Amino acid sequence: MNIVLLGAPGAGKGTQAAKLVEKYQLPHISTGDMLRAAVKAGTPLGVKAKSFMDAGELVPDDVIIGLVTERLQDADAAQGFILDGFPRTSIQAVALDSELSRLGRPLDAALLIDVDFEVIVARLTSRRMCEVCGYIGTAADAVCPKCGGAMYQREDDKESVVRNRLNVYETSTAPLIDYYRGCDLLVTIDGDRDVALVFADVQKSLNLS
Ligand code: AMP
Repeated sequence: MNIVLLGAPGAGKGTQAAKLVEKYQLPHISTGDMLRAAVKAGTPLGVKAKSFMDAGELVPDDVIIGLVTERLQDADAAQGFILDGFPRTSIQAVALDSELSRLGRPLDAALLIDVDFEVIVARLTSRRMCEVCGYIGTAADAVCPKCGGAMYQREDDKESVVRNRLNVYETSTAPLIDYYRGCDLLVTIDGDRDVALVFADVQKSLNLS
């Protein structure tokens, strides 16, 4: 199953992807996670990406397309994948289509997790991540409930940056909803509900059980 997850930053794409990965053993290809790993490791890609990420802007298309194209060549992605955070622009969507058609592995669905922007602002500004294992918690978690590591707020989860990310989403990424509707791949899920209810809908819409 080849799936693209669409939705504004903070809509819960990462959470739903993690559940799909756990249940169906599909590789989770998150461009945000890949970029954060590159920043942490101080690679040339990370150095280039950091200023865009901290400002809530998009990393240039050529950089991110190269990263995903390479990742799709890995053996595990041949069995299916969940793309989370990519594509984010029309150029990226067209590049993905052409790479997948070259590989003979077309998309099965583009799943839109739909959440009101003000709900997202509240969610993201209270989000905290574990420095050690990447666990995603809230401001109520003094330390990571999974591994005891220190929790921190992502630079791009601060309110002014969150609002900028939502503007960027509206301008650059939301048009992809129509793009995938036109390809007859769009499935819309109401993401403003309990995680388990959203996941039940995700499974139903993908004909998974
Ligand atoms: P995310 O964790 O998906 O919200 O991504 C965090 C940040 O990484 C974004 O705000 C962008 O700066 C960058 N990023 C992630 N995916 C992409 C992409 N497909 N295109 C451009 N920039 C991206």
